[in-house]
Order: sequence, then structure tokens, then C-alpha cells
Amino acid sequence: MSNKKLFNIPPEAQQKIAIIGAGAMGVSVASILSQLGIAKVTLLEAESTPLNHYSASLNNTGILHHFVYGGHFSTLELLFKQTLLFKKFMPDYVFEDDYVNYLAPNIKGNTAIYQKGVTIKDVSKNLIEIYNNHINNYPSEQIFGSAKELVQEIEPEVILCGTGDKNLFNGAVKVKQPVLNIGEYCSHLIQLLNKLIKKQKINLKTNHRVTNIQLSKQGFELQINQEKKLYFNTVINTAYARGLEIPIPSFSGEKQVGNIVKLKVYGLYKIPETLKTKIPQLIDSFSSTLLIRGEYGGIIKAGQNRLAIFYGLEYNQAELYIPLDKTPINLPQNWISWVRSETDYFDSRNEVSILQAIQKGVSQWIPWVAQLEPIKLKKNIQVYPGKKPANQLEAAKRDHNPIRYQYQHQTGEQYIHIPGGKLTSVIYHSFLIIHNLLKTYINKQILTEQEVKKHLRIDNNRTIIISPELEFLLGKELPQSSPEKREKIIRELNVY
Ligand SMILES: Cc1cc2nc3c(=O)[nH]c(=O)nc-3n(C[C@H](O)[C@H](O)[C@H](O)COP(=O)(O)OP(=O)(O)OC[C@H]3O[C@@H](n4cnc5c(N)ncnc54)[C@H](O)[C@@H]3O)c2cc1C
Repeated sequence: MSNKKLFNIPPEAQQKIAIIGAGAMGVSVASILSQLGIAKVTLLEAESTPLNHYSASLNNTGILHHFVYGGHFSTLELLFKQTLLFKKFMPDYVFEDDYVNYLAPNIKGNTAIYQKGVTIKDVSKNLIEIYNNHINNYPSEQIFGSAKELVQEIEPEVILCGTGDKNLFNGAVKVKQPVLNIGEYCSHLIQLLNKLIKKQKINLKTNHRVTNIQLSKQGFELQINQEKKLYFNTVINTAYARGLEIPIPSFSGEKQVGNIVKLKVYGLYKIPETLKTKIPQLIDSFSSTLLIRGEYGGIIKAGQNRLAIFYGLEYNQAELYIPLDKTPINLPQNWISWVRSETDYFDSRNEVSILQAIQKGVSQWIPWVAQLEPIKLKKNIQVYPGKKPANQLEAAKRDHNPIRYQYQHQTGEQYIHIPGGKLTSVIYHSFLIIHNLLKTYINKQILTEQEVKKHLRIDNNRTIIISPELEFLLGKELPQSSPEKREKIIRELNVY
């Protein structure tokens, strides 16, 4: 990461930009923005640390989706582009085998990948077509090798490590698709952030919960912890679920659709020695495996010796629609206290019983799952853009653009509200936001279109093209610290 700013604009033309929330999204936007030399960046975090234990960034399964939501060509294409960008920027934080297996259970059910025109084979075919189109346009981007390697049909038996009944399945494919090592990824973001704070490029303010935003003569007025006030030209709300509680400054912008929030859980389990002896492939060659029909579930690699397991029936308990024009709507207090504590879930189920139920659910198809040792339940509130879809195919067609609301003030400065993205979309949407902000500098004739295009542009097929200089702004060449130091950060972050 060189010290040279990419757009050297005079200090008086630099906007004061606030980013609310220091999760993966906030840290990524702040890191890119602060090194472009166009803004003074303040990152406001409600908790005492960035990427804290309560954030969704530390409590997710890390799948970089480009298959399971692929019942709709356009959605598949967009998620694929987002995954590709993620892999390009974070090549070191993906589990080694880089494959995800997909199994289609042979049961009645209705998901996006079991209907005419959207079977496991159709999605595979579409994915290959999308990849071929991409490498035809951008031949240097063969990030997943040849198109033939991208998706391969395999026998369910192989995936099950020989212990399951293959008649339970309708088909299986192996897809080159990254699964993020969340611990290492978050440790990387912490190191990048610390470096930029030390260089005084980012001003991080922890214990700063934004409680209100309104327009004032000095720009956007942010109220912090119901008391002090800070002023900014532009505000980017990346506070995810709790960011929905912050009132929108002026309701006249674009995209007035709301979000759905729900509680989601998954369990962390250890592979016991006995199982390792019985099925050595579990350590040598097993890759993350998702069940894509009926009671959607899966097994995800989550670190050395650990697996994360989820089972749809254990997390679809309740959903809440939060329309944007009715803000502020506070999230239910019992959801928040459950996510933060060891207390029973409100229908009185405790964590142990949920961990067991998840194991039981997935072991119907993959029997050795029953022998894993539960470690703990991970839980958080997940945000989806838009209204509740009528069915799974609708869900797959969902508009995955998480920028829910954008308000442009007459002075050209903006409020951007981006609460509901996937981890998969963090890098893609960070650059989308930066692209948007750069337009305001073009409009004010501080930068020219050519200057911006040289570094960042979007083609007419939604591919974001980023210059080699910009590729380093998320710390690509940051030397990995020693394994001990990384372990320490991961422990402090309390990821596993
Ligand atoms: C159980 C679960 C599984 C998931 N699995 C996947 C998956 O496999 N693949 C995938 O792509 N995505 C997955 N996701 C989604 C993914 O976790 C999120 O999209 C991503 O982490 C969002 O990052 P973020 O930075 O926007 O939010 P967060 O990491 O939640 O960060 C938001 C930050 O804002 C702070 N904040 C909140 N309110 C305020 C305020 N008023 N003022 C200041 N700061 C505030 C919070 O303290 C927090 O630090 C999953 C989510 C869940 C919950």
C-alpha cells in the first residue's frame, strides 16, 4: 500500500465523510476511501471495538454464494461477479480446497433449485456460461481455472465419505466456490484498519452509537449516544441490522423498499478423534457441503478441526419486515438480548437443544454428523433486502442490491443506507459506493471523468473494473502477521 494518494485533491475540497458501523462493510469502505485522498474519513462504532463479537461479520458461515441463490440467471450472474471480486482481493483467506459440494436431497420440497428450468444441472450450465462470458471479456480473470473445472458432477457417495445412502439424493455437483476463513479474514481487516489509523487516514471512534441523523446548515448532523453532535458532508450507514433503527434524515431519496430481518443460528462442532480415525477423509479432503433442497442445511469448514452446521428448520422461526418509511423501528429487545447472552430462546429452547436439533436435522442425510461434538451456538440477526418473497424462486430472484436508500442533498452530498448485503457482496458494494461518491466530485468538477475511469468503472454487464492501484486498497500486499499474532487476534475477537 503506497503512501501516494490516488486522487490528490486539495484539502478544502475533501469531504468529511462518516461511516456508521465498523463491521466488514464499514471497515472496507473506510479503508478504500481513506486511501484515495478525497475525504476525511471518520468511522463510528457503537461498541467498544471494531469487528466486535456482536457483529454479523463475526457470526456468519462465510460462504461466498454463487450457486445456491442461482435459481435466477441474473441473480446468479451478479453473485458470481461479487464472489470473483472477493477472491481476487482476498486470495489468502479462503479455505484451501476452494470447493463447495452441493447435494440435492431426494425429498418433496420446493426450493429454487428443484423446478423445471432450475435444477442443479441448469444452474451448473448457467454458471459455466456466465464464467465463459466473463473470461471472454476479461481473459486475465481466469480466477477459477478453466470453465470445465468450475462445476463437476460427482457421486453423492464421494461427498458423503462413503457413509451415506446415495439413493437419498437426486444429484450432486462440486463447484469451485470460496468459503472464507472468517477468523483469518477478520484478523486481516483488523490489521489493515490499525495500520490506517496509525497513519491517521481513518479516525475511528468507538463507543459512538449514532442515535439520530438530521439535516442542518453544517451538513448532516449526527447525534451520538443521544447526546453530543458531530457534523459531516456525507454519511454512509453500514450499521447492518441495528442501522435500521437510525432515522433517515430526509425521506425523499430513491429506493424506498424495506428489509426483512430474522434470527439465524448455526452450530460450531468439533471433529472428535474417533471420527477422524474412522473417516480420515474428513480431515484430508472433505469440503464444505450444502443441501440445496427442502430443509436447506449445510456443513461449512470453519477452521482447523471445526465445522459450522446449519439447518433451515432451526432458524426460520420469525421474520420481521421493516419498511424504510416508518423509521425508526427498533428491533425486538428479546432478539437482541438473546443474541448477546446465553439465555434461553424466547420459546424456552436452550442452546444445547438447538445444537442437537441442527445435528439431528443434517444427519438424516449425512450420518456421521451425529457424532460431532457441539462447541457452541452462533447466532445473529440477518438482514435481507426487500419484502418477504412468496416462494423460494422469488427469493432467488430477490434484488440483491443492498443499497436501500440514497438521499442526495442539494449541495450534492449524500446519505447512503446499506444495511442488508451478504458478506459475499461486501467488496463489490464497497466499490459501488465509492463509484457513486466519485460522481459527486466529477459533478463539482473537482475530478474529471477520465481521472475516475482510469481507476474505477462499471461495464454495461455490471462488472466492476478496478485499476491495479485500487486492488491494493484492501491490504492485498499487507504481509500476513505470524500465526501466533493471528491466533491472538482471532481469540480476542472471540470468533470460534
Ligand atoms: C447467521 C448468519 C449467517 C450468515 N452467513 C452468510 C454466508 O454464509 N455468506 C454471506 O455472504 N453472508 C452471510 N451472512 C450475512 C453477513 O454476515 C453480513 O452480510 C455481513 O456480515 C454484514 O457486514 P456488515 O459490516 O454490514 O455488518 P456487521 O458486521 O453487523 O457490522 C455492523 C456494525 O455496526 C455497528 N453499529 C450498529 N448500530 C450502530 C449505530 N447506531 N451506530 C454506530 N455503530 C453501529 C455494530 O456494532 C457493528 O459493529 C450471514 C449472516 C448471519 C447472521
